[in-house]
Amino acid sequence: MRGIIILLFLSAQMVMGNSDFWSKTGHRVIGEVAQGHLNRKTQRAVSKLLYGKSLAAVSNYADAIKSDRAFKNFSAWHYVNIPSDKKYNEVKPSPNGDLVTGIEKCIEILKDKNSTEADRVFYLKMLVHLIGDLHQPMHAGRKEDKGGNDIQLQWFGKGTNLHRVWDSNMINDYGMSYSELSREFPLLGKEQTKEIQKGTILDWVAESQELANEIYDSVEKGQKLGYSYSYKHWNIVEEQLQKGGLRLARVLNDIFS
Ligand SMILES: [Zn+2]
Repeated sequence: MRGIIILLFLSAQMVMGNSDFWSKTGHRVIGEVAQGHLNRKTQRAVSKLLYGKSLAAVSNYADAIKSDRAFKNFSAWHYVNIPSDKKYNEVKPSPNGDLVTGIEKCIEILKDKNSTEADRVFYLKMLVHLIGDLHQPMHAGRKEDKGGNDIQLQWFGKGTNLHRVWDSNMINDYGMSYSELSREFPLLGKEQTKEIQKGTILDWVAESQELANEIYDSVEKGQKLGYSYSYKHWNIVEEQLQKGGLRLARVLNDIFS
């Protein structure tokens, strides 16, 4: 009996764990793209704080600590819920914090000369992850369906939900490692890169929210999805991963140089 309970508990954890983050690969891609766009000074500062580890290597830290109760105050930082017809600024902020306030806090701590080294390391790792989450459109979805988590679907005959399709089903099915994927993107010129990197956190939230609204319209509850859905929407996944990486680099360059 006890064995069964433990098994049930473990499988529930796996399902929950799967359901609320850009797949590990997605976060690593964003870290890898950012790494290639850091200026020298930032590269040195970041590498020192991470003891030589790459941004890709630390990009899933914020998800890894989720199950530790000591970090439960940070769990609301992974997403922001905005009604489809409202902007972030038009809604009362969540008392538990959200993706926007989380990112702002990380930037504030990293810019503050009086922050301890331990804090800098912690909030840098959080920031790398959160800029990633910001670019998964369903992390800026509606509250009533938990960013698509309550919209049940089928993915190649297996139960899933809209949030998970965009977090992990499409990326994992694509079947490339993070380093392969991060070399897949179209090469951009200086101007194009600059264009993507400009704007504020709130601009990028609005962009994700707009995509989320399109994604809500892309499925019917209970729909069976497979190749054609991936084929039709993969360009959004790819674009968001590339944008996430370039913008993470900009945010870090702003902080450290
Ligand atoms: Zn997350």
